[in-house]
Amino acid sequence: MSARNDPQARTPTTVPIGGEAAYAEGLARLEASYRAIPAESRVRLAKKTSNLFRARAATDAPGLEVSGLGAVVSIDPDARTADVGGVCTYQDFVAATLPFGLAPTVVPQLKTITLGGAVTGMGIESSSFRAGLPHEAVRSMDILTGAGEVVTATPDGPNADLYFGFPNSYGTLGYSTRLTVDLEPVRRFVELRHVRFHDLHELQATMDAVVGAGAHDGEPVDYLDGVVFSRDEAYLTLGRKTDDDGPVSDYTGMDVYYRSLQHADGVLRDRLTTHDYLWRWDTDWFWCSRAFGAQNPRIRRMWPKHLLRSSFYWKLVALDRRWDIGDKLSARKGEPPGERVVQDIEVEIGKITDFLDWFLDEIPIEPIWLCPLRLREPAPAGADPERPWPLYPLEPRRTYVNVGFWSAVPKQPGQIDGRANRLIEKRVSELGGHKSLYSEAFYGRDEFDALYGGPDLEQLKSRYDPAGRLLGLYDKTVRRQ
Ligand SMILES: Cc1cc2nc3c(=O)[nH]c(=O)nc-3n(C[C@H](O)[C@H](O)[C@H](O)COP(=O)(O)OP(=O)(O)OC[C@H]3O[C@@H](n4cnc5c(N)ncnc54)[C@H](O)[C@@H]3O)c2cc1C
Repeated sequence: MSARNDPQARTPTTVPIGGEAAYAEGLARLEASYRAIPAESRVRLAKKTSNLFRARAATDAPGLEVSGLGAVVSIDPDARTADVGGVCTYQDFVAATLPFGLAPTVVPQLKTITLGGAVTGMGIESSSFRAGLPHEAVRSMDILTGAGEVVTATPDGPNADLYFGFPNSYGTLGYSTRLTVDLEPVRRFVELRHVRFHDLHELQATMDAVVGAGAHDGEPVDYLDGVVFSRDEAYLTLGRKTDDDGPVSDYTGMDVYYRSLQHADGVLRDRLTTHDYLWRWDTDWFWCSRAFGAQNPRIRRMWPKHLLRSSFYWKLVALDRRWDIGDKLSARKGEPPGERVVQDIEVEIGKITDFLDWFLDEIPIEPIWLCPLRLREPAPAGADPERPWPLYPLEPRRTYVNVGFWSAVPKQPGQIDGRANRLIEKRVSELGGHKSLYSEAFYGRDEFDALYGGPDLEQLKSRYDPAGRLLGLYDKTVRRQ
């Protein structure tokens, strides 16, 4: 056990990181920026990074100044909680907690995702089968509402409706400025088992069994995700926290993590430091760096190591969108332009093979990421026991699987805008699932409201954003305003 994991060695008091004074100054700047926006204008975030994929209407309007809310305020290693600014990135958050042998309960894979963004936008990771989603670790949140008031939302306080309605509201009720969240102990390393499957039904059954038992073949499982390369080649990766010394792999240079999963049969073992495990998908943006040539060994050798990261690929995506680079290259090769299909969807675990079978037939994209999730039990006191989080109504005691696919498919002349995305949306609805709303969506208004708690949101809007200073969820996610 490392000294910092040793309970005897723990500092007994809250450890300030960014500190209260810096937070208070950041909050004052945010409030001043809200007041500076004309009363008849929309209120938006002015934020340097984003992990939203859907296109948004361009605007010159001044936004909310959140740059002072990007730090961890303090960490309480004994209570295993952290007090964190709303736009603190997970990269900075994790860097502050790991020295205490602690980590956020769920660490979304991309370093620039912020805590506030993941709580309002439904982040997920390989701990989600046992730890739920990022918003379930929140004990309390300060939120600047659409009405310009900073309120504290807790599960049992006067703003409990906002606490439960905030996840999946995507900034349509207000912006979290500060969050107190649970942390969990980690160890120095994560030992990995990559289990190969030739049959997706078998993968589904094994995933279900591991989620139920928290173990596989007699070994505990702390982290669980999977990758499908084809019907015949899929893997579950089972991670176990450990302090045992031993060699570790490094996928931040020439070697590419997702390729390391692939093997002919059975189980392949590997080990990473906990830090490298948490960021294993950021280096190559899962596998999406392939599109920029970053996995070609000749190019990779010359690629500065510090630019092997998702935030840099975002810049390349922005350039591609601005200049249509991908479509122009395709045209030169005589190929049709592409339709971007960048989505995360979720269906019940029993439907995962149905979805994958359909997807592999219809949508020419691989690999595909799988990540099981279950709501934490029990839900916080004060929650509706059957529908704790109304804007993204997952059911308690049920296992779901998030399926991620991020690429493009060829677009045929005369084809309806977003054809593949619409087909996927329809299939997900047929299977009773949901889509994450960070990317394009095409739902009709009634279906959208039925899926994403429309009446609950309307009620919350009337209380926390009565003048409609913030966009509505449908306008933001489907109408792309
Ligand atoms: C290709 C791709 C892959 C992804 N993969 C994953 C994944 O594997 N795991 C995962 O967890 N997530 C993933 N995401 C989704 C991501 O977690 C969400 O889009 C999340 O909302 C992004 O957070 P952000 O901090 O970057 O916020 P932004 O992108 O800046 O904003 C996202 C939305 O949240 C709102 N928002 C931002 N900050 C706040 C705040 N403090 N309070 C209230 N509202 C706020 C914004 O108004 C906006 O509507 C992926 C997204 C993409 C595009």
